[in-house]
Amino acid sequence: MMTVAALRAKDYKSDIKPVWCPGCGDFAVLSALTKALAHLGLPKERAALISGIGCSSRLPAYINAYGFHGVHGRALAAASGLKAARPDLAVLAVGGDGDGFSIGGNHFLHACRRNMDMTYIVMDNEVYGMTKGQASPTTGPDWMDSKMTPHGPGVRRFQPAAIALAAGAGFIARGFSGDPSGLTRILAAAIEYPGFAFVQVLSPCPTFRPDHRDWKEQVHGLEAEPTGNAVEAARILQADDGMTTGILYAEELPVWQPRNQASASIAEIEEEFRL
Ligand code: SF4
Ligand code: MG
Repeated sequence: MMTVAALRAKDYKSDIKPVWCPGCGDFAVLSALTKALAHLGLPKERAALISGIGCSSRLPAYINAYGFHGVHGRALAAASGLKAARPDLAVLAVGGDGDGFSIGGNHFLHACRRNMDMTYIVMDNEVYGMTKGQASPTTGPDWMDSKMTPHGPGVRRFQPAAIALAAGAGFIARGFSGDPSGLTRILAAAIEYPGFAFVQVLSPCPTFRPDHRDWKEQVHGLEAEPTGNAVEAARILQADDGMTTGILYAEELPVWQPRNQASASIAEIEEEFRL
């Protein structure tokens, strides 16, 4: 009898060498993601990575699976369409804080409440890296190192985890690129979660935010088991300083089904769409 060899993390790496700057946190996110995929034993032809525009949105090119590098802020829109057409695929949308929370902010809100079975990984470095260091939605109000905002952005930060909870997401987690083992566990849990799983990954940009070298001293793990209670999650997020890592909330909620036909089998859908 022929046996199928288990996939290893390196099997999910494509032949394309990342062009990220030395020290970019996105290297560790890529590595953790390939380890999570190997841990889950997900066949490469059953995974699809969808991105928008930005440094972190290059990630699908570096993964040996289906990939689509789309337009700015629209990763979730393309991923939702793919999931509707191919519910059998594990769909992962990936990108950065500018792409996902500014240009794509509206898609983020509605993906949370629609609850399609997919994973959304945002590599948050609190800056637009690809376009040379403008303030992003998660940049703090007092950051003055950008030529575009020499007096600081002066506006309050976007709070991705709290907003995801308010918008109806059932799985919310935060990881850190400097904790690859913890991040691998979180990503594996997010991919396995049946519904829309949002993972904010603190992933420093040493080129435009060298001040984030101290993130490794600032992150701290959630000192509690993941809660499945939205009120308790809101309490955790109210006290959150933005550096709490772990699964902050996980509750199984009704999952969006293709054409709202909860009883339709994949075979029936494939037949209808001639897949
Ligand atoms: Fe990474 Fe920043 Fe370089 Fe972009 S500019 S590749 S985010 S270090
Ligand atoms: Mg960014």
